[in-house]
Amino acid sequence: MNICVAGTGYVGLVTGACLADFGMNVVCVDKDEAKIASLQAGHIPIYEPGLEEIVAKNERVGRLHFTTDLKAGIESALAIFIAVGTPPNPDGSPDLTFVRQVAEAIAQYMNGYKVVVTKSTVPTGTGRMIEQILRSNDGDQQFSVVSNPEFLREGSAISDFLRPDRIVIGASDSRAIEVMKEIYSPLFLAETPFVITDVASAELIKYASNGFLAVKISFINEIARLCEVMGADVHDVARGMGLDRRIGSRFLLAGPGFGGSCFPKDTSAAIDLARQHGYRFRIIEAAVCVNSETKARMIEKISAAAGPLHGRTAAVLGLSFKPATDDIRESPALAVISDLLAAGVSVRAFDPAAMENARTLFPQLYYATDVYDCAQGADVLVLATEWNEFRALDFGRLGRLMKSKTLVDLRNVYEPRELKAAGWSYTGVGRS
Ligand code: NAD
Repeated sequence: MNICVAGTGYVGLVTGACLADFGMNVVCVDKDEAKIASLQAGHIPIYEPGLEEIVAKNERVGRLHFTTDLKAGIESALAIFIAVGTPPNPDGSPDLTFVRQVAEAIAQYMNGYKVVVTKSTVPTGTGRMIEQILRSNDGDQQFSVVSNPEFLREGSAISDFLRPDRIVIGASDSRAIEVMKEIYSPLFLAETPFVITDVASAELIKYASNGFLAVKISFINEIARLCEVMGADVHDVARGMGLDRRIGSRFLLAGPGFGGSCFPKDTSAAIDLARQHGYRFRIIEAAVCVNSETKARMIEKISAAAGPLHGRTAAVLGLSFKPATDDIRESPALAVISDLLAAGVSVRAFDPAAMENARTLFPQLYYATDVYDCAQGADVLVLATEWNEFRALDFGRLGRLMKSKTLVDLRNVYEPRELKAAGWSYTGVGRS
């Protein structure tokens, strides 16, 4: 089957490469000429483990192509996946301009039956909007509009796509459902659960899922705060809670608050979506509010650990919003850096993949060559993003390089007792 994926970012590129791996003929389209030129030259524009190999393999066998020619992509495909960005507007609602642009192009270039699949995260009602745009085409072309939200996580996007917990398909006709089942047939055969529903429910599943996960993160961050004042340890509290299978242990890691390109924008969009229907989504509002407070609280922790901050030097490990990605959108690490700079601190930073992206926002930082270069002469070491590379550090060497053996572990990665025994002042999140 021929497939066109419109938008070749974190989601579109992974979707295109993995669908090609399923045996589909895929053309990935993007309006960003530099991105497409780089992909055509064999260079992957984002850091995502395993992506380069799967792209190269499928390009080699001729199942994966890159172009800026959306018309050709649409004309050649039975199914067109819309995987463009849906960034937040200032009022929190998602900006659907790019989705609309692709839908208008499909309306213009449709040359036969098309299945138009929304992978981008969009509010309930977008499927209907796309349908109206496609109908505005004077021709008598047939089409189906499908919602197929994506749940992959950056950093493990390939395995998430190839081994998802579930596939959600929102459609209103059986022809489209059959096409979707064929596209995902390797997963269907592997007994991946399929949730087949109407378009509106599928669209809402994505916001409901991200909203719920955001609530879980903010919940444990509030427990962490209580732990600090009550002399308890959030690590043990989370373990004790998470072993209850009704709760589950994932997303119970206290830290500097949620960030990234999805949770902040999707929670705002869910609040906006509810508001537009005359409802206040109070639980998600609370999760967002707690998240802002959690982010703001991190600088207080650093100053409590390191003393007056003005004129001091901080070494910050990790810049991406989570490990194993170069994505810095809404990264909690950058919120901490911004607060450090505002407090008059010189910041030395190191990240295995995100320094190039961070440099565009914070050119004034010193970007180190490794962890030890980062720590050189610093008054305080701040672990902001828990890359695996930071889990087994030589604290003896770090202590000798720094002015003061002060560590603020915003991800609760290290063992407080061991560090204290080695003469470090240790501060975690929610650990007394
Ligand atoms: P991204 O910004 O990395 O990529 C979007 C791409 O779309 C860009 O390359 C852009 O140039 C391209 N584009 C925009 N308008 C276009 C047009 N008219 N024609 C062709 N290309 C166009 O975004 P992303 O992170 O891949 O997210 C895409 C969507 O998927 C969003 O709705 C997001 O919420 C959702 N999503 C993202 C993730 C994630 O982890 N990043 C996970 C699940 C869902």
